[in-house]
Amino acid sequence: MLSFKKSAVVTALLLIMAVLMVGCNAGKETAQPVTDNKKNDKLIVFVSILPQADFVRQLGGDQVEVSVMMPPGANEHNYEPDTGQLKALSQADLYIKVGHLPFEDAWMKRFISTNRDMLVVDSSQSIETIDHNPHIWLSPRLVKIQAETISTALIQLDSENQDYYLQRKQVFLKELDKLDREITATLSGVKDKSFLVYHPAWGYFARDYGLQEVAIEEHGKEPGAREMSRVINYAKKNQIKTVFDSSQHSTHSADAIAAELGARVVLLDPLPADYMDNMRKVAETMATELSRE
Ligand SMILES: [Zn+2]
Repeated sequence: MLSFKKSAVVTALLLIMAVLMVGCNAGKETAQPVTDNKKNDKLIVFVSILPQADFVRQLGGDQVEVSVMMPPGANEHNYEPDTGQLKALSQADLYIKVGHLPFEDAWMKRFISTNRDMLVVDSSQSIETIDHNPHIWLSPRLVKIQAETISTALIQLDSENQDYYLQRKQVFLKELDKLDREITATLSGVKDKSFLVYHPAWGYFARDYGLQEVAIEEHGKEPGAREMSRVINYAKKNQIKTVFDSSQHSTHSADAIAAELGARVVLLDPLPADYMDNMRKVAETMATELSRE
């Protein structure tokens, strides 16, 4: 009788302990969601520039939360992140750099030391760049390669959702193909094949669509007098009527050269938040300007 009573008491105690432990664990889960619910969380992805955020959202859908290092209006060649951004970066799962951007070269070591668990991926890793020119996002054909790299990284970090990411990638690649065909059609009949631009952002774009970019700016610096006169002579010889510029870069030299040529300055956005829409606009603007009499 006694041993039965004893074991009943022990059983009851064990039951109470079990209930308490479940209670404890449940409490822990709500108190520490970062460690216990990580699998259900979105991937926290940082990118350098706005158009990359568009790419990651297209590819990651509602499984990703994207932050952009460089705010709208800043210049991708000399931007400096602030301490608030570095603090936010410490929570990131993934950083996708463009590759070859001067601000990335200057800051990447600091970014990594802020968050050693973060996967860092270079979106230019499978792309043959021209003289390390960073503007690979302005070629839809090169964006297809960047999309492969980004998608692979998302799957590496969140393999449970592989099918979801692969499906979104197929849709995005098809949209890029469609964009590429549209731009090809828009620019196929332009009269002038070479164009003048202040900041050399459109070289890959020009290569894809049978055009030639001539840049005023040299290695991120205002051109000297000699370079200015070389560009002006070239532009006169080629009867260039438009100087393309962007709101993020200095327009002083662009204005001076345009005035000298009797040309007009037209702005193109090299750092769009809505990639597809902007690239169509760029193609239409170029087609209009390069076909003017
Ligand atoms: Zn640039």
